[in-house]
Amino acid sequence: MVRPVWSASTVTSSADDPMINVTKSYLPDRRKFDAYLDRIFASGQLTNGGPLVKELQARLEDYLGVRHVLLVANGTMALTVAYRLLGLEGRVITTPFSFVATASSIAWQGLEVGFADIDADSLTMDPARLAASDLNGVSAVVPVHVFGNPCDVPSIERIAGEHGLKVIYDAAHAFGVDYDGKSLLTKGDVSVLSLHATKLFHTFEGGALIINDDELYAQACRMINFGIVRQESIACLGINAKMNEVEAAMGLCILDDMDKILAARAEICEDYDRLIGDHVSSPSYNSKASRNYSHYPVLFRDEASLLQATQMLNEQGINPRRYFCPSLDTLDFLYRGEAMAVSRDVASRVLCLPLYPGLDKVSRRRIAECVNAVA
Ligand SMILES: *Cc1c(COP(=O)(O)O)cnc(C)c1O
Repeated sequence: MVRPVWSASTVTSSADDPMINVTKSYLPDRRKFDAYLDRIFASGQLTNGGPLVKELQARLEDYLGVRHVLLVANGTMALTVAYRLLGLEGRVITTPFSFVATASSIAWQGLEVGFADIDADSLTMDPARLAASDLNGVSAVVPVHVFGNPCDVPSIERIAGEHGLKVIYDAAHAFGVDYDGKSLLTKGDVSVLSLHATKLFHTFEGGALIINDDELYAQACRMINFGIVRQESIACLGINAKMNEVEAAMGLCILDDMDKILAARAEICEDYDRLIGDHVSSPSYNSKASRNYSHYPVLFRDEASLLQATQMLNEQGINPRRYFCPSLDTLDFLYRGEAMAVSRDVASRVLCLPLYPGLDKVSRRRIAECVNAVA
């Protein structure tokens, strides 16, 4: 039997299957979730901007400190809708060091994918590389706040302003991150979240567009619902990108637990910081931003060391993930331009260690021992 390979473990381990994966989907209190299901069964409204989606949107606007949150089916759909909303054409420049959806969503829209290489310390788009790219025929830039670490927002906005480029931030990892005392998600024409089961905050599957502009938000609301304004009035080209009520119920339950989730993740990261030797390095995190502990990436000296540590971990039933490998500029169905040397180098030696509430101290020590064994 051929088993599909998912992007990360969405299968939670059980007592007789003690696998430790890079992440484990957070599950809230079952009774609380059941109470929301009771509400769904009582109202009979399952989707189409129902009360739970509306409630979650309002609570997220408040929690994140942003003007408009528009919930959608997944993060990839959020990116796709954002490109349409902003009328992108021609070439769009993104980073080669990301999850494949950042770039494939651009190609899926019939747009040409361009890359600007990353900065070796922050692992986010290097503004100097962006400025040095051929920006003729480029309509937008899609930088990523990789691992919750904000990219160089002021420089990117300056370059985008000078060349009339739209900015869409792929903020799939940046849930709840503040920058300069404000939500990072307020940046750009649109910022996009993924609320997939493997993410810090999730709704099984889900995504969101974060939009500051009221008119753009109104357009996006129509666009995710086939372009329909009201019965018998279809205003524009649209798609079905709606989130359903069960997904929103999951989000409402998990949002109550965010303090607990963030504290648990911070504690694990601090433990790793103490336990893991300095033969591996971490990205340099933006000092103007808060941390959300979305991932715990370590950079080995070289790929051989990474493979050796991974083998030792796998032998103990521990499955870290090579986020992000391969570098997206190596995918010839997306791109055939200049090689992105920094991204390729980083992709060959970066590993994300298991990180989720409930990862116990003994496991953390075993993980650190494997990483340290290749010092
Ligand atoms: C997860 C992720 C996406 C895709 O989100 P989905 O909700 O899985 O469609 C896009 N970009 C980045 C950086 C991601 O990590």
